[in-house]
Amino acid sequence: MTQLEENFADIAPPLNRDAALLESTKCLYCHDAPCMIACPTHIDVPSFIKKINTGNLRGSARVILDANPMGHSCARACPVDVLCEGACVLNDRDEEPIKIALLQRYATDYAIEKSLRLFEPGAATGKKVAIIGAGPAGLSCAQDLRRMGHAVTIFDAHPVPGGLNTYGIAEYKMRPPIALAEAKMVIDLGAEIKSGVTVGRDVAFEDLHKEYDAVLVAVGLSGTRKLGIPGEELPGVIDALAFIEHLKTHPYDETPVGRNVVVVGAGNTAIDAVTQAKRLGANAATIVYRRGEEEMPAYEYEFQLAKKDGCAFRFFTVPKRVIGTDRVTGLECVRSQMGPPGADGKPTLVEVPNSTHVVECDMLMRATGQGRNGDFLKSAGITIQSGSVVSTLPNVFVAGDCLSGGAEIVNAAADGKAAAAAINLALGGQPVMSQRDRMIRA
Ligand SMILES: Cc1cc2nc3c(=O)[nH]c(=O)nc-3n(C[C@H](O)[C@H](O)[C@H](O)COP(=O)(O)OP(=O)(O)OC[C@H]3O[C@@H](n4cnc5c(N)ncnc54)[C@H](O)[C@@H]3O)c2cc1C
Ligand code: SF4
Repeated sequence: MTQLEENFADIAPPLNRDAALLESTKCLYCHDAPCMIACPTHIDVPSFIKKINTGNLRGSARVILDANPMGHSCARACPVDVLCEGACVLNDRDEEPIKIALLQRYATDYAIEKSLRLFEPGAATGKKVAIIGAGPAGLSCAQDLRRMGHAVTIFDAHPVPGGLNTYGIAEYKMRPPIALAEAKMVIDLGAEIKSGVTVGRDVAFEDLHKEYDAVLVAVGLSGTRKLGIPGEELPGVIDALAFIEHLKTHPYDETPVGRNVVVVGAGNTAIDAVTQAKRLGANAATIVYRRGEEEMPAYEYEFQLAKKDGCAFRFFTVPKRVIGTDRVTGLECVRSQMGPPGADGKPTLVEVPNSTHVVECDMLMRATGQGRNGDFLKSAGITIQSGSVVSTLPNVFVAGDCLSGGAEIVNAAADGKAAAAAINLALGGQPVMSQRDRMIRA
């Protein structure tokens, strides 16, 4: 294994059979299990762990992927500390929570490795649905629609499916082949996929709306917001998402990385960019963030990981100008501090006078958040209705990041399933009981 391969090796290696069995014996199989409530897709955690314990790995994987078609990728990339594992009752006893993610991975790896066919398409209804976007939301919707018997065609702008699972998740959490194997399970249910097709450019949204009985819009978020400061067009200033996508689609040594990298922003994308720049060989990789550590949107464990990787953090630092003549050489910044509360009661941010300074860098990444893909929604004439998968256009539904404004894989999967239930109903199908309702009724 080369040094770079080692740097991007699995951050949470899988459990072997003995370790999985041992871990499964520690579960208390709680009634009203808080781990199940905490999961946005409400996977029946005690049930799938029990099945691992009794050697029924097929049944275990079925429980997981029935509730969450993205259960394979979620096992690797879910922020479990703040979801199922964070809610495990063992935390209250000052014990380690059950390793739910690793057990989930153990069962779903088995299903993928054995190419198990866990679900079958439903009897054909004669209805056809177009799904725009083959990310977690679109794929989750497709799985349920196929099981209900509706014909599904998925259109995706990228050459292969998976959305950010394939192109965005940090390489040390999940590699593209994992995402593609998961997408294949859905496509093998008989969903047609048209990759490399951008709706709005290669095919008109209006044509899909006319041709199909229903349309799901699951196009994710738009590109990273601009910094809005002079000099940001200089070579060497790049979008963090473009950097990550390049890394995930090329041999590691083909992704250019600076010796001294600065990433602006402090969300999870910024953390992924800074850690991967460091792991790719940058001498220094630094986050520049205008607020303080307490206000960082990134999860605590992501922050700790970046620190462990040797990344630096410059808090209360506001970018003002990108410096360089034919290429970026630095970022001019001023210091900031928390000021008195504003109209909304939250402390305002005030710049410290005479605090201008330059943070040197030869690569500058923007990780300053993404919008809701408003351009696409607007050009298609779609208005979102307060977080509902039902849009203002008849028989047009919305799911995933373009609905939520950006969340996690598991939320996109939950949305995709909710959209499938709503589409089925709109097409005259019987109401289906959601996993949440099943959980409440149990
Ligand atoms: C860098 C990064 C790291 C992340 N890490 C994690 C993590 O560790 N754990 C986690 O749970 N979540 C993570 N997330 C969030 C997670 O990836 C998203 O919440 C999830 O992928 C959203 O799914 P989606 O289907 O809504 O959108 P996406 O995954 O963005 O998929 C949208 C799809 O729509 C397609 N598309 C867009 N426009 C068009 C068009 N006009 N025509 C056709 N196709 C189109 C795109 O090609 C894409 O395939 C991360 C996000 C980012 C950006
Ligand atoms: S809360 Fe913990 S112990 Fe209880 S069922 Fe869930 S994983 Fe098992």
